[in-house]
Amino acid sequence: MGSREQQYGGLDGFRIVAAILVIAIHTSPLLSYSELADFTFTRILARVAVPFFFMCTGFFMLPRIGPDTRKNREVLWPFLWKVGTLYLFSIALYIPVNVYAGYFANGFSVLSFLKDLVFNGTLYHLWYFPGIMLGGWISCQLYARLSAKKAFVVAGMLYAIGLFGDSYYGIAQMSPVVDSIYQSMFHLFDYTRNGIFFAPVFIVMGGVIAASRGSEKLVRRGDNESIRHGGNVSHGDNESISNNGRVRRAKNNVRRDRHRILAFASGFVMCLCLLAAEALLLHASHLQRHDSMYLFLLPCMYFLFQLLLCVRGRSMPAVRKLCLYVYIIHPLCIVLIRAAGKVTGLSSMIVENSLIHFVLVTALAFAVSAMWLALAKRNRDKPKPTGRAWAEIHLPNLLHNLRECQRVLPVRSEVMAVVKAQAYGHGGWQIAQALSQAGIKRFAVATMEEGIELRKKGVKGEILILGYTHESNVRQLARYKLTQTVVDAEYAETLNACRVRVQVQIKIDTGMGRLGESYANIDRIVSMYRCPYLQVGGTFTHLCVADRLEKTDVAYTESQIAHFHEVIEYLRAQGIDPGKLHVQSSYGMLNYSGLHYDYARIGIALYGMLSSADDTVMTGVELRPVLSLKARVAHVKQADKGSTVGYGRSYTVERDSKIAIISIGYADGIPRMLSQAGASCLIRGSRAPLIGSVCMDQLMVDVTHIADVGQGDVATLIGSDQDECITATTLAKQCGTITNELVSRIGERVKRVYIRE
Ligand SMILES: *Cc1c(COP(=O)(O)O)cnc(C)c1O
Repeated sequence: MGSREQQYGGLDGFRIVAAILVIAIHTSPLLSYSELADFTFTRILARVAVPFFFMCTGFFMLPRIGPDTRKNREVLWPFLWKVGTLYLFSIALYIPVNVYAGYFANGFSVLSFLKDLVFNGTLYHLWYFPGIMLGGWISCQLYARLSAKKAFVVAGMLYAIGLFGDSYYGIAQMSPVVDSIYQSMFHLFDYTRNGIFFAPVFIVMGGVIAASRGSEKLVRRGDNESIRHGGNVSHGDNESISNNGRVRRAKNNVRRDRHRILAFASGFVMCLCLLAAEALLLHASHLQRHDSMYLFLLPCMYFLFQLLLCVRGRSMPAVRKLCLYVYIIHPLCIVLIRAAGKVTGLSSMIVENSLIHFVLVTALAFAVSAMWLALAKRNRDKPKPTGRAWAEIHLPNLLHNLRECQRVLPVRSEVMAVVKAQAYGHGGWQIAQALSQAGIKRFAVATMEEGIELRKKGVKGEILILGYTHESNVRQLARYKLTQTVVDAEYAETLNACRVRVQVQIKIDTGMGRLGESYANIDRIVSMYRCPYLQVGGTFTHLCVADRLEKTDVAYTESQIAHFHEVIEYLRAQGIDPGKLHVQSSYGMLNYSGLHYDYARIGIALYGMLSSADDTVMTGVELRPVLSLKARVAHVKQADKGSTVGYGRSYTVERDSKIAIISIGYADGIPRMLSQAGASCLIRGSRAPLIGSVCMDQLMVDVTHIADVGQGDVATLIGSDQDECITATTLAKQCGTITNELVSRIGERVKRVYIRE
C-alpha cells in the first residue's frame, strides 16, 4: 500500500499553475493586446485558481472532521492558527505599501479596519486568508453536523446568495427589496466573494471528493484482504491463484482509471466552455458587479479536481510552500517592478507592455519565493549536532502515526500519548510538545520527574504517572498538577493520609500481575474511591497478552476486560463514579479496535514500530518509523589476513580487509553482543557487517567491499541509506529483544535532531 502522501503530484503541480493564474488576475497580461482576450483569460479561466486552493484545503482537512467536537477542534485550531499567523505576517509585510497607497489616510477607521481584517483583506489579495479561515470554520461546522451531501447543499445555498451579489448582481437589483438587502450586506463587506458565501462550497466539495475516494479505496482494499485470507487457509497453490487475481485486478484498475480520466477531462472542457459562455453573456449584458463567482465554476472545479487526482506522482511539499509564498508576495513584486521601471526609465517596456510586465512579476515572485524557501530551510537546518552519533527524529512521521491511531480508534476514544522513558528514547518533552501542538491533551509518563519536566516545558493537559511515587513527594504532585496512579489500596490510604489534595487514577490488576489492586478485592477497591484527598479522575487496567492472537491469549485478554467491567459495574452500582476508563495500549488498540473506552494509552505505535518483527495485528495501520540512528566513521584502516580486531581478539580477519571504526558503542545503547548476531550498518548505501565486540564508545565494521569509505562518512544503524534500510525491529530481533527496549536505551550522548518537515 503506497503511502498516502506520495500520490498528490497532480494537485501540487497544479498549484504552480494556479499561482501563476493569480498573478495573471492581478497583472492582466493580455490587456495591451485585446481587452476581450484579457477578460476571458483573467476574469474567467483564471478564476479556477482560488477555488482550487479552497478545494485542496477541504480535501485534506474535512476527512478528519467527525461528530466529536473535541477531535474537530484538534483539526480546526491548528489550521486556523497556522493560516492566522501567516495572515498577520502578510498584513505586517504590506503596511508600507498600505501607507504609500494612502490606506490609513482615506476614511480609515477601526471599523473599516475590522471589516478588512475579517472580509476584504487589508490589501487586495489578502482577502484569501480570512476567506479560507472563515470558510474553513463554516465548512467544518457544516461537515460535523450534517451529512456530506447536506453540508454541500447548505454551502451551495450560501454560494447562490453570493452569486447574486457578484456576477448576477444585475438580476438582484431588479427587485428593490433584494437590492436593499444586498446594499446593507455591502456595508459589511465589499464583495460576496468572501469566507461566508464563496469559500465554503469549494472547501466542502473538496471534502466530498476525499470521502468518495476513501470509500472507493476501502472497497478495493477489501477485495485484496479477502484474497490474502484465502491464501492463508492453505499455502502453496492458493498463493498463485491470488497472484493471478491481483494481476487481473490491476489491469481492471488501469482500464477503470483510463475511463475516469477521459470522463473527467471531457467534463472539465465542456464545463469550462459553458463557464466562458456564461461569463461572457453576463459581461455583455452588464449584469456583473464583480466577476469571481459563476454557476458553471462549480462543475468545472469538480471535474478539474478529479482530473488532477488521476495524475500520479509524488507529493511535493516544497511546491506547496513555494506557491503560498508566491501568493503572498506577488503584489510586492508588482510594486517593485513598477519602481524599477521608474528608476530605470524603462516603464514603457516593463510596465506598460502587459505581457512583459506579467512575465517579469511572475519570474520575480518565484525567484524571491524560492530564496525565501531556501533561507527558511537553511535556518531550520542550522543546529545539527551531528558530529559523532545522533538520532534523527522525524516529527511528520510521528504525526502521521498519530493520525493512523486516531483513525483506528473509535471516534470518542482519545489518544493518551505514552511518553515515558524520554518517549521511548525519542526525547520526552520534544515529542510531548509536538503531540500537544497536534491537539493531544493526555500524556502518560513513568515517573514524577518525567511529568515535572513536561510541565516545565509548558506541556498542558493531563499527565498521568503510571509508576509509583513515594508519598514524600505528594506536594510536588499537587504543585505540578500531575495525576498519580494509585497502585493499591494501601497506597491510597498512605497518600490520603498526607492531607494534600491530589489528582489520581485508580489502577486495577485484572491479570497482568503488576501494579494495581486486584480485581478480586472489590471492597479494597471501593475503599480507594472513598479517600477524601484523592480526586479520582479515572480507572484503568493493563492488558498483558494483547499482542498475541492465539486462542488462549485472546481468551485471557477477554477475561481481563470482563474482570475490569465487573469492577466498573459494581462501582457504579454503589454510586461511585470511576471517571475516565482506559484499557488498551498499542497492541490493545491494534488487535481490539472495537473496544470503546475514553482513552487508549499509545506508546510504541506512535513511534511507528511494532514491538517485534514477527507480530501481525488485526488492524490495517500504516506506521512509519520516527527514529533513525546514525554515527560517523571515525577512522578507516587496513587489516591483513590473520590479524584480529577488538577486545579479546574475538574476531579474526579472514582476508586482507578494510575496517571502519564507527563512533557509537554500548554506552550509546548498541548492545554489546550485536556483532555476533550478524548485524550490520549502512555506509554509502551498502551493508557493512559489524565485527568484533561492540566497545563502550566505538564499534568496528568491515567495509572491504564498499568503495571510497572515508573519515566522517555517515553510518546508519537504524534507518535507510539510499536503497538499503535497517529497521529497529530487525535490529531488536538480532539482539533478542523488542524494539521498545532497544530504542528506550539509546544513550544520552546520542544527540536528538528533530526534523520538522
Ligand atoms: C508503557 C505502557 C503503555 C504503552 O504501551 P505501548 O505498548 O508502548 O503502547 C500503556 N500502559 C501502561 C500501563 C504502560 O506501562
